[in-house]
Amino acid sequence: MLTKDVAATAVATPPAKSDTALKGAPTKTSATKPLRIYIDGEFYDQADAKISVFDHGLLYGDGVFEGIRFYNGRVFRMEAHQDRLWESARSICLEIPISREEMDEALLETIRQNDLRDGYIRQIVTRGVGNLGLNPVQCKRPSVIIIASTIALYSEETYRRGLTVVTVPTRRMGPATLNPAIKSLNYLNNVLARIEANLADADEALMLNDAGNVAECTADNVFIVKRGQIMTPPITAGALRGITRSVVFDVASELDIKISEPELTRHDLYTADEAFLTGTAAEITPVREIVHPTGAYRFTPGALTRQLIEDFAAATRGHKLEAAA
Ligand code: PMP
Repeated sequence: MLTKDVAATAVATPPAKSDTALKGAPTKTSATKPLRIYIDGEFYDQADAKISVFDHGLLYGDGVFEGIRFYNGRVFRMEAHQDRLWESARSICLEIPISREEMDEALLETIRQNDLRDGYIRQIVTRGVGNLGLNPVQCKRPSVIIIASTIALYSEETYRRGLTVVTVPTRRMGPATLNPAIKSLNYLNNVLARIEANLADADEALMLNDAGNVAECTADNVFIVKRGQIMTPPITAGALRGITRSVVFDVASELDIKISEPELTRHDLYTADEAFLTGTAAEITPVREIVHPTGAYRFTPGALTRQLIEDFAAATRGHKLEAAA
């Protein structure tokens, strides 16, 4: 199934139309210097980039965000990220105060202002300034904030060896409470699970939903490989519709590997041949151990995970800036 020819086809995959080239990008990412941050149409030095303490994004976690990577002067899957940002906003009745085109341009300009070629963008839309009551009607104008920076989440060693993941007591919220499909500023559910992972000295937390099925990790989607097939929980289990998750679907279909979204239990994870996590920050990272109070289940990063990592790297770093300029 994983012949060299098939892999080569995947490696040669051209950038998706939605990967947006950055005109005038520097030839390499510059050394650390104070960031220039976009707030509502203006750029500020990092130390002066401030918002009101009455912004409901701060007071209530009322707002939405995206985390986006850019590689080699090209924004990876920008259109998909903007689609999700607009959908998250619509779901919470938040009207983004600028157009899609203005947002795209603001995002690209933020990267340019920071002289970056590879890095991570945080795009935030807050409900805006209101009073101390939670009613969003008080907030007259949402704020748009864009931060572009460099990122190094895990060491090379971790990408090679894989992560340790612990099953934590905190459950992922169900779609009927705060739908995990909304990428909102309210991440306390994930933060609590993250704290539990820290307490257990694990790299990530595996979150189950109220039914006891696997939902996702605190900032990543979960995948397993069993008998040559790839599986990941459905969105309805309480997972974000990850952009990296969708790249895995694309790569799997190019490689002719069966991929499905069944309900998954801890049993499915413990008995998998391979497991890996996906996320914009984490990219595709193998799991080497799933820890549970009863003990640890160990994995060796397998051939299929390695293949996906390689193809993902080709789909991101392999881009030529000139290609879509
Ligand atoms: N789940 C959660 C809770 C996340 O925060 C993220 C990161 N955005 C993901 C999954 C992975 O999504 P993506 O691949 O779009 O970054």
